[in-house]
Amino acid sequence: MPQALVVLSGGQDSTTCLYWAIARFGKEQVTTLTFDYGQRHRVELDCARRVADFAGVSNTVLPIDTFAALGGNALTESAVAVKQTVDAQTQLPNTFVPGRNLIFLTFAAAFAYPRNIRDLVGGMAQTDYSGYPDCREDTLQALQQALRLGLEFPVTLHTPLMFKSKRETVEMARDLGALEALAYTHTCYNGQRPPCGRCPACVLRAKGFAEAGLADPLLTSTAAG
Ligand SMILES: [Zn+2]
Repeated sequence: MPQALVVLSGGQDSTTCLYWAIARFGKEQVTTLTFDYGQRHRVELDCARRVADFAGVSNTVLPIDTFAALGGNALTESAVAVKQTVDAQTQLPNTFVPGRNLIFLTFAAAFAYPRNIRDLVGGMAQTDYSGYPDCREDTLQALQQALRLGLEFPVTLHTPLMFKSKRETVEMARDLGALEALAYTHTCYNGQRPPCGRCPACVLRAKGFAEAGLADPLLTSTAAG
């Protein structure tokens, strides 16, 4: 039985977290969970599976088909275009899906409970990002407490990237031996492979690699694409 569950989106951050979990708990103790939440870019699910395969851990896809019904965001509604600017009122980009991480981690905990998995790992970070309030340390501390109470189960939420800049996350991936796996990840908000290079996610990813002085394997590896 695995000991740790990594919420794996198939992106750069959760892939780095997977390698963090493997280093900390051992590969045999790690499994991954990916949410099929009706994301516009189905390539994310392929990326998650390929990353898990490459790392040699299992991957379960859990369908949640309610986000699209909530409406109003660019990640699940194909009619809503990704904007480069933030909403004047909320100061959030229109890729924000309200409460997404709260819902994901609650489902992850419910998945972990019957398997007696006590360590959940997620790539949330409050630095250098779009300012999603459900990625912040205080939110996740409160959620951990709610899950412990609500499940009567000693679950721990690990967020190893919480206070890292994009540069530091890239350096961490290098130190953990995760760089090669990053060739299988996606980042682009426009769902393009090779990535568009212009959307906020592509720009942020490129900045992290540039500041770390490393080439992005997604752009250079023959495994990408
Ligand atoms: Zn892009």
